[in-house]
Amino acid sequence: MAKTYNAEILSVGTEILLGHTTNTDARDISLMLSEIGINVKYHTVVGDNPERLAACIEIAKGRADIIISTGGLGPTCDDLTKQILAKSFGLELRMNEEEKACLYDYLTNKGYSRQMTENNLQQAMLPVGCTVFHNDWGTAPGCAFEKDGTIVLMLPGPPKECNAMFRACAMPYLRSLSDEQIVSHAIHVFGMSESAMDQLFREEMNAMTNPTMAPYAKEGDCLLQITAKAKSVEQAEEMMKPIIEHCCDVLGDIVFGIDVDCVEQRVMELMKQTGMTFSAAESCTGGELAKRFTDIPGASEFFLGGVTTYTNGAKAKILGIDPELIEQKGAVSYEVAQQMAEKVRELIGTDMGIGVTGLAGPDGDGVHEVGTVFISLATKDGTFVRELHVGARRTRSYIRRVSGNYVFDMMRRYMMGLEVIK
Ligand code: ATP
Ligand code: MG
Repeated sequence: MAKTYNAEILSVGTEILLGHTTNTDARDISLMLSEIGINVKYHTVVGDNPERLAACIEIAKGRADIIISTGGLGPTCDDLTKQILAKSFGLELRMNEEEKACLYDYLTNKGYSRQMTENNLQQAMLPVGCTVFHNDWGTAPGCAFEKDGTIVLMLPGPPKECNAMFRACAMPYLRSLSDEQIVSHAIHVFGMSESAMDQLFREEMNAMTNPTMAPYAKEGDCLLQITAKAKSVEQAEEMMKPIIEHCCDVLGDIVFGIDVDCVEQRVMELMKQTGMTFSAAESCTGGELAKRFTDIPGASEFFLGGVTTYTNGAKAKILGIDPELIEQKGAVSYEVAQQMAEKVRELIGTDMGIGVTGLAGPDGDGVHEVGTVFISLATKDGTFVRELHVGARRTRSYIRRVSGNYVFDMMRRYMMGLEVIK
């Protein structure tokens, strides 16, 4: 049986403690560690203070096999992580000539008119005998070493650098610690809660040791993560195959993809397959649908255009919706959503037209509860309208996000030939 590693992420930075910076590095590293089956047991945040940092390292040594630090590798005087970690493990820092040359090259040749200063050089001082993580995304190199049974990894604080280096350098390093491969797949589901999924598979999950299966909630959708350990990736894949098939069978058409980032990504794949196009008329989502879809490269082939018709006047003027209908039924209504989808489809000339109108709050309109959203999909086969109740106490951004998920899922179902509203 291979060793199970427990990790602690030690994020260093007073700005995190003060709330100026959200600890996204710890979140991202945790997600990546779960991909390789390493358990994260603690997230610790400590300010740029040598005594408190040293104290946190001592605590981490006693409870984690792997300590991963983020931040404090830069050239300024509050960047102490490396010095304190090296001292805590009795390691000397020594100039790494290769990293020094890279730094010199980076700072003098890449359009910087800066001089290399003494404190820049400090970044190339690394613990003796460590594995160097070269930083292709910034200046400060990271590193890893093993001492007294503890594995220590250091990564820079800037999220772009931290993420990219973790994936490119730290993950291969951590994988190499074990002769087992850990492979994981996520079955993405829309329209079932995490707790319902937990209930559905609880007995099976409890009986499983390898592979394992666990449900996770995301905003408005959830996923089932299947993870296997084996001598090879192929073997792990073989072990997971029947389980993934079984789960997909049980869950049916609410599965929108395996290892996809979001439902709009699946919509994009289906648009590529079907060649269908769409347009959107948005009210309460304020352009978020357009933004989410156009975040995906290649979107312009399929998303031909959108309008944010936030007021009644804009709904009438731009889309040509009868002001009397708006007056009679209200802007947040089944009929207006239907018209928005039909009119934008016609106006822009697409296979599908989307209409979204609702109440994102916090103020109500005296008629509907906050979180009431009508979403609509106009197609050559007719217009589908759905009334959602996303939750009266939810934030505006949550209501928008979840409404968007429902819209994209409706498009997915239509393109797959499934019952559009389930
Ligand atoms: P630099 O070379 O830029 O000084 P560094 O490794 O010393 O890098 P810090 O100085 O601690 O890192 O932080 C640099 C930037 O990264 C800051 O803008 C900080 O807000 C951000 N940052 C630091 N730690 C985190 C974290 N855990 N999550 C998200 N952002 C972070
Ligand atoms: Mg810094």
